[in-house]
Amino acid sequence: MRGIPMKHLATPWADPETYLKRMQPDHPVLFLSPAVLQGTARRFQTGFPGLVSYAVKANERAEVLANLDAAGLAAFDVASPAEMRAVRAINAAAVLHYNNPVRSPAEIATGVDIGVESWAVDHPSELKKLDKVPRSAEVTVRFALPVAGAAYDFGEKFGAPPDQAVTLLKEVAAAGWKPALGFHPGTQCEDPQAWAAYITEAARIAGRAEVRIGRLNVGGGFPAHRAGEAPDLTGIFQTIGTTAARAFSNTRPQLVCEPGRAMVSEAFTLATRVKSQRDDGRTIYLNDGIYGGLVDLRDIGLPGRVRAISPDGKPRSGRRVARRVFGPTCDSLDRLPDGLPLPSDTAPGDYILFDAMGAYSIALSTGFNGYGVRNVVTVLGLAGHSREGD
Ligand SMILES: *Cc1c(COP(=O)(O)O)cnc(C)c1O
Repeated sequence: MRGIPMKHLATPWADPETYLKRMQPDHPVLFLSPAVLQGTARRFQTGFPGLVSYAVKANERAEVLANLDAAGLAAFDVASPAEMRAVRAINAAAVLHYNNPVRSPAEIATGVDIGVESWAVDHPSELKKLDKVPRSAEVTVRFALPVAGAAYDFGEKFGAPPDQAVTLLKEVAAAGWKPALGFHPGTQCEDPQAWAAYITEAARIAGRAEVRIGRLNVGGGFPAHRAGEAPDLTGIFQTIGTTAARAFSNTRPQLVCEPGRAMVSEAFTLATRVKSQRDDGRTIYLNDGIYGGLVDLRDIGLPGRVRAISPDGKPRSGRRVARRVFGPTCDSLDRLPDGLPLPSDTAPGDYILFDAMGAYSIALSTGFNGYGVRNVVTVLGLAGHSREGD
């Protein structure tokens, strides 16, 4: 394991509870456990039957990229020149997969300059724009199926229908690039059959195009542990491996995955604070909301892993009561989905801790109305994890 550059080594606190008790922050704080993040990276690398890359958009903070680099991750899914530069600032030799299939000519030129090794396309007009991309690069045809099982459907925005993917794949091979196929099943996808359906279709597309693909990118979308039992990532990895072996038999491509959410989620806990309570406590105002670190809750629902602690660091233990929760801005949309279950003894000034909040939190947080989550504090441990990250 390589060391982490000095600038990312803040003196860590023991855990969020210790920090909150001592510092009494009045703004939302994200706590990062490098041990948990590196532990997750290692679990992907040992469990996934292929190359693991990280989808930078889930959380592009330098601390995240540096810890993934330290855990040995060397490939990154980037969507923009800014993300390419963020990765290269941490690891100048990192492998970049440019998997945003819609690009301006200027963005393509930057990708060529920076040395992107793999480019996704999902439309003939976008393939034409790649003519200056060196033929030593890989071009991945991204296709889409209507998918049930993900929290939202990426197939509506990106991905060629299978017939068009056949044509594109032939053109990629004929033009001399390394041909590959790819898909992205959506986000927080709990059903391994979503990957199985896509992999089976990928083999069909390659067969119809009569092109032997070197790699198959099975996307991200792996589920984070939001409530109840942790999702069975190992089961998903096995389904991916066995389906690819069966569907492609002796032409099995190398597999690539690009988790965002499932890679970073668990390594962060978001601490917010109760500003006010009304209606006998049924309505709560927090110092963070959907314009800040909690925006993802609006789209994928309330998490189950939430707890309250008093300002002096004691866990609240009353029975759980469903609340109506508003954020801090003067905008009526700034409201979480109804029913957040908080202990009955929760009081103004308490901290509300949301576990598994590393993905699509600080990356999407705005400064609207002067609020939002800005700072990341490094901790040795998080609730439910050993200091070794397991
Ligand atoms: C967003 C995205 C990912 C990561 O998705 P998660 O649900 O965060 O794992 C991976 N690949 C592509 C192409 C994406 O757009």
